[in-house]
Amino acid sequence: MPVFARAPLAFERGEGCWLIAENGDRYLDFGSGVAVNALGHAHPHLVEALKTQAEAVWHVSNLYRIPGGERLAQRLCEASFADVVFFCNSGAEALEASIKLARKHFAHNGQPERYRLITFEGAFHGRTLATIAAGGQQKYIEGFGPKVDGFDQVPFGDLEAVKAAIGPETAGVLVEPLQGEGGVRAVPPATMRALRQICDDNDLLLVVDEVQTGVGRTGKLFAHEHSGVTPDVMALAKGIGGGFPLGACLATREAADGMTAGVHGSTFGGNPLAMAVGNAVLDVVLEPGFLENVSRMGLLLKQKLAGVVDSHPDLLADVRGEGLLTGLKCRVPNTEVAGALRDAKLLTVGAGDNVVRLIPPLIVTEAELDEAVSRLEAGLSKLEQRSAAE
Ligand SMILES: *Cc1c(COP(=O)(O)O)cnc(C)c1O
Repeated sequence: MPVFARAPLAFERGEGCWLIAENGDRYLDFGSGVAVNALGHAHPHLVEALKTQAEAVWHVSNLYRIPGGERLAQRLCEASFADVVFFCNSGAEALEASIKLARKHFAHNGQPERYRLITFEGAFHGRTLATIAAGGQQKYIEGFGPKVDGFDQVPFGDLEAVKAAIGPETAGVLVEPLQGEGGVRAVPPATMRALRQICDDNDLLLVVDEVQTGVGRTGKLFAHEHSGVTPDVMALAKGIGGGFPLGACLATREAADGMTAGVHGSTFGGNPLAMAVGNAVLDVVLEPGFLENVSRMGLLLKQKLAGVVDSHPDLLADVRGEGLLTGLKCRVPNTEVAGALRDAKLLTVGAGDNVVRLIPPLIVTEAELDEAVSRLEAGLSKLEQRSAAE
């Protein structure tokens, strides 16, 4: 179905931060398949883990124990606020599980009327019926029948609006600590702390969507760590599978108290192939020094991008982001900028608010950052020449 506006490009293979097209052209991948290829392409440790598991067993269903999943869940819990994990196959499914968990928590505790979540403008939570309602973007909701009930959207970062939106039916607050699709917009740490306080004061669950920001993308294992607060529930996907479809819903034991045998499920979720790759991703991301290096590369990239913004004030307005989730706010349509960069063989991803995202694999080197900047300069100069000629 033609639901994607695809670029006329196909890649044959990848190596680290590079993608090689059918004609042999080498593209520097600063899109990472939309923040998915956390360890780049064909990372030897991930390839080895997948091959080894493929030769053992692919799928057994959740009728049986899956030791790799038990291990991955335990490691995720040890590295986070969580006590329990549900595995699924995508971000939207991780959000569906989080939304259902929040509703079930209150139903389980005798308050079934509390099913509503407060969400924020600019949010993106996926493309299922519930997650388009949670995201609140009209262009995704229109034409798909009645909008799923249970989401109250307030302006981005507006704490007074959050307080005003709380009613007898409110179950929690759902927030991306840093909006990715929404335009690389970070919730200030003080606002995250205030949201935690509001949730505590009103017996609400704080649910964070870290599908894009999680697993090292912002220089911390999870982006909420920048604010020092812990959520009750967290959705993960994208980077946690390094390119293998994998999502997860993490929660405290208390928040997940309604999630008893039979109330939720998934056929594929947490299958042995996905669990092997998820564990292999964690092996690398949890290595001492890995996250520090992501922070360092993120800082360097931001500094270099600030220089690029300064030298192209007619095309670019500012640089934003945290760690290796960075964005350039454009003064011309972001699609034109991303197109010009693609012509210069630098892959990026558009975002809302007229932003172009630069989200390289977390293993990017300083030399690759410099190469990206020189391709950026080349692409932007071409764009300037083109507009001068018009
Ligand atoms: C990508 C994304 C999703 C949806 O993930 P899918 O795997 O496409 O379903 C949800 N939330 C955020 C923050 C995302 O970036």
